[in-house]
Parts: sequence; structure tokens; C-alpha cells
Amino acid sequence: MRITLLGTGSPLPDPHRAGPATLVEAGGLHLLVDCGRGVLMRLAAAGLPTPSLLHGLFITHRHSDHVTDLNDVVTTRWATSPEPNTLTVVGPPGTEALLDRTMAMLVDDIDYRRTHHDDLNWDPTVAATEVLDGPVDLDVLRAADVRVTARPTDHRPVSPTIGYRFDHDGASVAIAGDTVPCEGLDALVEGADVYVQTVIRDDMIRRIPMPRFQDVCDYHSSVADAARTAARGRVRTLVLTHMVPAPPPGGADEWIDLARQHFDGEVLAPDDLAVVGT
Ligand SMILES: [Zn+2]
Ligand SMILES: [Zn+2]
Repeated sequence: MRITLLGTGSPLPDPHRAGPATLVEAGGLHLLVDCGRGVLMRLAAAGLPTPSLLHGLFITHRHSDHVTDLNDVVTTRWATSPEPNTLTVVGPPGTEALLDRTMAMLVDDIDYRRTHHDDLNWDPTVAATEVLDGPVDLDVLRAADVRVTARPTDHRPVSPTIGYRFDHDGASVAIAGDTVPCEGLDALVEGADVYVQTVIRDDMIRRIPMPRFQDVCDYHSSVADAARTAARGRVRTLVLTHMVPAPPPGGADEWIDLARQHFDGEVLAPDDLAVVGT
């Protein structure tokens, strides 16, 4: 499997980091986890010029930084597909309602384009698969021998939230969204080759004299939390992403050193578009 860190940023706009999004390539499938700010630009840079080539979108939770470009994925897939091409969207309960609201937002654009383009005579279609704990049952995954499992995570008061584990050809990748350490997260990462975790530097954020920033520490894994989870799960490689506050490009050594205090395996804190293999 091949993992591309499309966006390693967070809600805070950063000139070098797009919003949270990770591409998993397995068994010939292109599977996108979350669709934060700038996801289609990063997908194009990673070699996928249109989201019509995606075989599935997997949402960890509905915080805006993780889904803000959902409308762009839906619209651009529709407008660039030669024939109807339903987008499969997997996510926790509530995903179908999010899709309904997104489609409602797009009615004007759908009308404009259908009126102008005679050969675009269908509406964009999306299909939600809601999952909280267990296997993601989709024909496209089964045909490619890719096993995807969801586990519940803890990002309260944001609930429900999930992480995904991808198993293929003897390798495994766990991709957690925003969460503090919890039982579901431990189950997700157990024995994984690669574990991708959204993290924050609580030591830095706690020094910002603004309650709204300090609240962020309540429901995210710190670097130490992620490293301890990786150690408990005996994973091979820990990948830090969604870094808050974002280090400058190539400036994440301090983050890696912090993780190494708790975890003996490989630790990466990549820039956007970094590729990690299993
Ligand atoms: Zn979140
Ligand atoms: Zn987030």
C-alpha cells in the first residue's frame, strides 16, 4: 500500500499545508480519507487530476477542517465524468445527512451546468455508507481484496467519530482522525505497519492566552499521546499529521524528537505530498 499525505494542516490557514486529507492506494484503488481545504489541488499534484478517479471517500468526522471541500469533490467529479459516476462516501452516523445538506447547497450550480451542457444530463449522485465499529462492506473493496475496518474514537463533544484501518496483501495502515487515546484507537492501530495520527503540541498551545485555543487540547492527541498509542500497538511507523501549530516546511524535527521519547519505532512528521509505503 502507498499512503500520500495530501494535507498535513489544520483549521488554521497555512501557506504550505493543505487541510486534512490522506490518499491510500491499495489493490489498484484510490481511497481518500477526509477532504480538507485544498484537497483537489493536492490530489492533482499526487497524480489524480480529477476526483472522478476516486473509488471512495472515507470521512472520520464532520468538523469543518476535515470536510470543507466535500462540495468540490462532488461537483468536480460530476462535471468531469463522461457518464454517471456515483461517489461512495463512508463515514460515521450522520454522514448521509451531511451529504443531503451538501447536495442542497449545490442546487444552483447543478442547474447552471445542466442548463448549459446538453451532454451533462444527470445530477451528481452520492451514496453514503454509515459505519461506527466494524468492517466497511463495499463491493469495490471486496473485488480488490482490500479490507477496511472502522473503529470508534473519542473526540467528544464531537460524536460519533471514527478511524479507519486498511488491510491489503499482508500490510496494514491505520488512519485516525482527531481523537484522544481510547480503546477504539488501540484496537485500530494494533500491529499496524503504518499509523497516521492527527496531533497537536499541547505544550505550545497552552501558552496561548486565549480560551478558544486552549480548548483544542481537550480532544486531540498530543505528540506524546500518539507516540504512546503507537508503542502500545507495536506499530512500525508513526506518521504525525494535522500539526498544530504547524511547523515550517522541513521544521518538524522537534516533533519527532518528542515522539521518540515514548516510541522506539520510526517517526515521520512529513510535509504535504510525502509518500509512505507499507
Ligand atoms: Zn476534529
Ligand atoms: Zn481537525
